[in-house]
Amino acid sequence: MNEKPILLGVNGNGRMNGKLNGHHHSHNGSDHTSDIGDMHVATSIDTPLRKDAFDLSDEEKVAIIEEKFREILTTLGMDLTDDSLMGTPHRVAKMYVKEIFYGLNPDNKPKISVFDNKFKYKEMLVEKEIQVQSFCEHHFLPIVGRAHVGYVSNGVVIGLSKINRIVDYFARRPQVQERLTVQIANELKKALQTEDIAVVIDAKHMCVSCRGIQDDHSSTVTAEYSGKFNDRATREEFLKYIRL
Ligand SMILES: [Zn+2]
Repeated sequence: MNEKPILLGVNGNGRMNGKLNGHHHSHNGSDHTSDIGDMHVATSIDTPLRKDAFDLSDEEKVAIIEEKFREILTTLGMDLTDDSLMGTPHRVAKMYVKEIFYGLNPDNKPKISVFDNKFKYKEMLVEKEIQVQSFCEHHFLPIVGRAHVGYVSNGVVIGLSKINRIVDYFARRPQVQERLTVQIANELKKALQTEDIAVVIDAKHMCVSCRGIQDDHSSTVTAEYSGKFNDRATREEFLKYIRL
């Protein structure tokens, strides 16, 4: 992990202003929003899971996915008796369940303990450059980038590494970047018992660089602001710290 957490003290008071939630795509001058727009549509804030999503154990899921992935490779014409390929179906199945999609299972949700804020003034805390490794639910290709989180303490604080763990937990699912941004913000609101939360994610989508438009340079920025971060001055302070 190449995380660079920073702490900043700043006065979070200010006039309320209009909302500026949303996202934009930066692309070296030109705009490919229409080309990649179809990949950024989520149907709901909640990850679409069935009620029976966790009736099977992890081990049962690994066994089923292994069998299905063997079928995929066989269908593609691969020779599964080759020493190099033999272990691939099991390796991929285990990776799906235990690593890259571990965040689907609520049992894996990080336990969050909060502390009293010893400083009694309202301060903005910013943790930036949090590693995001996720997978696009439309193409099952990686989304890799950085999350930047800000909050104004309501009297409680959480350990900085917990913010990384929350980001990672929600990232490790088949995702849509907007949904990931909102899910992280909502979890932080609950943990920190405040509405004063900002989450910005800047990420590259492999489904944009490896296929389709094959654009290697564009990144997608999504933002969720609430509470004091709807105030222009507070939001601009935050954006200045993360220097986007
Ligand atoms: Zn995609």
